[in-house]
Amino acid sequence: MVKKASVYENVTRQFNKAADLMELDLNIREILSHTTNEISINFPVKMDNGHIEMFAGYRVQHNSVLGPYKGGLRYHPKVNLDEVRALATWMTWKSAIVDIPYGGAKGGIQLDPFKYSFSELEHITRRFTFALRQYIGPEYDIPAPDVNTNSQIMAWILDTYLSTIPPKERHCSIHVVTGKPVESGGSLGRNKATGQGVVFCIEEWAKDNNFDLSGATYTVQGFGNVGSWAARLLKPHGAKLIAVEDITGAVHNTKGLDPDNLTEFVKEHGGVANYPDSKEIDHKTFLSTEADIFIPAALEGVITEETAPLLNVKLVAEGANGPTNIMGDEILQKRGIHLIPDILCNAGGVIVSYFEWLQNKRSEYWELEEVDSKLYKKITNAYKRVRDTAKKFSTDWRTAAYIVALSRLETVYKERGIFP
Ligand code: NAD
Repeated sequence: MVKKASVYENVTRQFNKAADLMELDLNIREILSHTTNEISINFPVKMDNGHIEMFAGYRVQHNSVLGPYKGGLRYHPKVNLDEVRALATWMTWKSAIVDIPYGGAKGGIQLDPFKYSFSELEHITRRFTFALRQYIGPEYDIPAPDVNTNSQIMAWILDTYLSTIPPKERHCSIHVVTGKPVESGGSLGRNKATGQGVVFCIEEWAKDNNFDLSGATYTVQGFGNVGSWAARLLKPHGAKLIAVEDITGAVHNTKGLDPDNLTEFVKEHGGVANYPDSKEIDHKTFLSTEADIFIPAALEGVITEETAPLLNVKLVAEGANGPTNIMGDEILQKRGIHLIPDILCNAGGVIVSYFEWLQNKRSEYWELEEVDSKLYKKITNAYKRVRDTAKKFSTDWRTAAYIVALSRLETVYKERGIFP
């Protein structure tokens, strides 16, 4: 039996394909094929019942030639070093594509957050932050939310980190983490930023392809931060959400599911299962649903050699990181299904994290309109760079996005050289 490629092997293959095509300098290729630091921490936490439980946490820093390490923190039972390494590497490419001064990092704790109380999650977060404190910092490595983490968790990280540094440095260090609650130094528009970026990319694609979004149909996998915001922001275009899947199941309605009502329902019931006025469908039926657009916004490895033949859509807009493996990519290309790759499509989150970081450094608060218009400019410029690169190299959009990122990194390495 052929062994399935790991998430990181998938990144390596994507990287190699682009590096071959653009003839990336061999020395720079070697540097970028490695992560810089891989931190694994096993740490104890006292549970509500007085027992101690051990947890495994990770932070991988891939590259910082363009700026401080930047990337989310994930809480999930399947978090492991291979996955975090892949996610950290994608962050380096993402920041380079959208032209922001960051490197790439990612972290996570291997746990099922739904099994723990609010106070246990606080203790787990604070203890992990304490253990990580010398490896993160406002000008060094800046975490943000990812799967199963949110602004509350960022507030705990902020508070714990600030408690470990001298009082004089605290007020100029709140940019140690982004995705904070607005009242604690977060940015307006950060919560919806990733979904907003996905929708800006879909709008550009629609313009390029003379496609009318009003009346278009779409499906979404994952109805958390990214998926629910993308759906809510597509609603004003008149597009119709006809199927949604999350960890609790999948629901369908050809007449349309209202994204705002569904978001309220998920907040109350923990998932989309049993949403009124919808039919429950299984995973295979969900993936085979005929629609114009599919937005994967859950986890990696959803569109593979087994599932890519099932998709019945014109466009895949990758809200999640790594939803498509290399074989899935090849099948989508052969079938003529367009794809806006993750490292471009979901970059809205890191772009507005950068805006939050800038506001903190300058002690400013920007209006939402300012955040949104700056996000629009950054992500649509990146979209055009990727589109034009795909044409220039006659290649697929994922490879083109890599070429945009790798060209920028190659230029900087050539200008700076390698010490000594
Ligand atoms: P989230 O925790 O808010 O939501 C995750 C969603 O995925 C939930 O609805 C969950 O039920 C669903 N899900 C989990 N396992 C599933 C499964 N096996 N099948 C179907 N659905 C499943 O997370 P999020 O922040 O929305 O992140 C989603 C994806 O977007 C991840 O790949 C993440 O790395 C990526 N991303 C997030 C951000 C951000 O700003 N939050 C930025 C860039 C990329």
